Amino acid sequence: MPSSSPSRRPTGRFAPSPTGILHLGNLRTALASWLSVRSRGGTWILRMEDVDTTRSRRALGEAQIRDLAALGMESDVPVLWQSDRVELYRMALARLERAGLLYPCQCSRKDLALLAAAPHEGDGLRPYPGRCRGAELRGGEGAALRFMLPPGQVAWVDLLLGSQLDDPMGLTGDPLLFRRDGCYAYHLTVVVDDGDQGVSEVVRGADLRSVTATQIRLQEALDLPRPGYAHLGLVTSPDGSRLGKREGALGVRALVERGVGVRELLGWLGWSLGCLDSPVPCLAEELIPGFSWGRVPTGPVAIPMSWR
Ligand code: GLU
Repeated sequence: MPSSSPSRRPTGRFAPSPTGILHLGNLRTALASWLSVRSRGGTWILRMEDVDTTRSRRALGEAQIRDLAALGMESDVPVLWQSDRVELYRMALARLERAGLLYPCQCSRKDLALLAAAPHEGDGLRPYPGRCRGAELRGGEGAALRFMLPPGQVAWVDLLLGSQLDDPMGLTGDPLLFRRDGCYAYHLTVVVDDGDQGVSEVVRGADLRSVTATQIRLQEALDLPRPGYAHLGLVTSPDGSRLGKREGALGVRALVERGVGVRELLGWLGWSLGCLDSPVPCLAEELIPGFSWGRVPTGPVAIPMSWR
């Protein structure tokens, strides 16, 4: 598959799941994707990944859109909600089925919750061991469906981390594309939408680096172009440890209530992305000239002590 050339005008996207507030890590990812396309005259898309109807809430998505707008980030096209696009996912799944690349998975609900939950659920991303591989599709009701990964490693280039070589089988195993409860699953919807929306640049947190090779395999099976990827270091506690509950809940509103102004927040985010020499208050627009992937640090970034 051809990779999109970084010199062309990019189309970037931020694709949160409306299952909670946007915390500092999400805001930093959103800003990096926004700056990357804004600094090259590209298009920025906001997409709500609300296809998991058990966990997504429209009101949370609306709040996320408002928080991003408060920071100066607005989608160049109408915000897309995945729950409106189920037909597209159905068609993609049918295509994979025709190609003989799906199999039904009978693993228990408990196994599925552990193996295939949404990407940010702790250690829900252990590889599926392939227990149901070889099972035949009978077109019956209620079966979960998995994609049969082809063997072999996937070479890809991360805009931030450089050349990568991954074995998707050892990272995710055969990904779940359709859940027994009737929801289309993350790996399918993300790949279909990035393709359909002409996304040339995917910026997301380092916790999703390990699913990229799997998604590339799906793109190949669906004949979709491969976007560029950048996986950003995570935001941590001041001491470098994983964010605690309190810090993890730091969103725009909580910070403003703590006296951290929007400009101060943007200054810190911009500085953490290498756009500024020091975290001075500013607007998102003012960060554009200083943005370059070569200056974005690759590692994790700790929140300021005073924001705890
Ligand atoms: N919707 C996913 C999440 O919020 C992110 C999808 C992506 O960036 O690939 O975790």
